[in-house]
Amino acid sequence: MFVDHAKILIRSGKGGNGSVSFRREKYVPDGGPDGGDGGRGGDVVAVVDGGMRTLMDFRYKTKYQAQNGEDGGKKKCYGKSGDNLIIKVPPGTIIRDVESGRVIADLILDGEQRILAKGGKGGRGNTHFTNSVRQAPTFAESGDRSVERNISLELKMIADVGLVGFPNVGKSTMLSVLTKAKPKIANYHFTTIKPNLGVVEPIKGKSFVLADIPGLIEGAADGIGLGHDFLRHVERTRLLIHVVDVSGIEGRDPLVDFDTINNELSLYSDKLAARKQIVVANKTDLVLDEEFQDFMDVMKTRGYEVFKISAATQQGLKELMEYVTQVLDEIPVEPLYTEEDLTEVIIEDESRYEIIVRLEEDVYVVEGYPIERLLFATDFNNVESLRHFEGQLRKRGIFERLKELGIEDGDTVRVLNFEFEFYD
Ligand code: GDP
Ligand code: MG
Repeated sequence: MFVDHAKILIRSGKGGNGSVSFRREKYVPDGGPDGGDGGRGGDVVAVVDGGMRTLMDFRYKTKYQAQNGEDGGKKKCYGKSGDNLIIKVPPGTIIRDVESGRVIADLILDGEQRILAKGGKGGRGNTHFTNSVRQAPTFAESGDRSVERNISLELKMIADVGLVGFPNVGKSTMLSVLTKAKPKIANYHFTTIKPNLGVVEPIKGKSFVLADIPGLIEGAADGIGLGHDFLRHVERTRLLIHVVDVSGIEGRDPLVDFDTINNELSLYSDKLAARKQIVVANKTDLVLDEEFQDFMDVMKTRGYEVFKISAATQQGLKELMEYVTQVLDEIPVEPLYTEEDLTEVIIEDESRYEIIVRLEEDVYVVEGYPIERLLFATDFNNVESLRHFEGQLRKRGIFERLKELGIEDGDTVRVLNFEFEFYD
């Protein structure tokens, strides 16, 4: 079965805690602080593996966690950073944050990568907290928390070239003779449509993916809406090969066929209808050139490149494929989402750095990631640590903002689940 959707839970590594430690030297009663910093937690990173073709792996493993940073140690020893966790995905994978529904990554090229969850920063050791009055700080920062998020993966098959045309014109035959190697990917079944894929390598080192796109006319005739499922798999093709049966053995006019298919295409998608098309006159083994000369002439006056072939005898296929390779070289792969769309993503959401101060009934509430982080790094049993916490609130203008809201000594301030009495 072909899996083109998956949902997983990812978690970055937590930052290691800073250390509280003091030098111990012979004959020196009280050495200075020497607590080292914690290491940063590992990121969760998605990387394209050009050899992958499905999201199958994600059905068996649904939780992914990067390594935590190690705690700092004595003698200014840094904690080791946590390893990043690499998640390999096939080309054409679109990654969304489930909660917000926003696209985080649209990965196409082999080796392309994107950070999905950043590891927590390491906490600073007590050496960082000395000042003129505090020579021997007895506190350090805790490491930053890890980020946990549900993400969805969606595979948009990347076919470079799509074969379009009426039923029985020879699309499947072309695919089967062109992709002799019968690569594994040729047999995936989709639930609603079954485009078959094959890799073609007419010139060594220059392969591309060819997809047979059946059902364009069949579906339309039966009133079956192929709609999104159909489009999803073909909208990334860069080039269409429009196959026409010029033998007339089915009793149709090739020119009428050609126009009918293009009409259908534009009904489905303007984007698809605007794709560059190469025209292929197939089944030429059954007829003399004169018999379809009119068709050739009309195509040429309309500016199309036309190739005469016979899928059955393989006549003309080599030239066609070499031409396709050459044309593809000039058409870039376009991501569905531009870098601009992606920067809106919440990995580094601006609101993350906002601090909100508000009055809720008679409690003054201070919210926001920086404050939570500060709180998290504070040891409430340690007077010095508390003093540092208070100093930070002052420095960030929180006291000012509380006073603007009318706070007075003795009023309650809440940060997360902690409540304090306010004294200026
Ligand atoms: P599709 O519906 O477009 O995929 O068409 P198929 O590849 O299934 O071909 C339909 C029929 O046409 C089959 O019986 C093929 O053997 C036959 N056919 C395809 N290409 C050629 C060709 O170049 N010459 C001849 N004589 N028959 C062909
Ligand atoms: Mg077919």
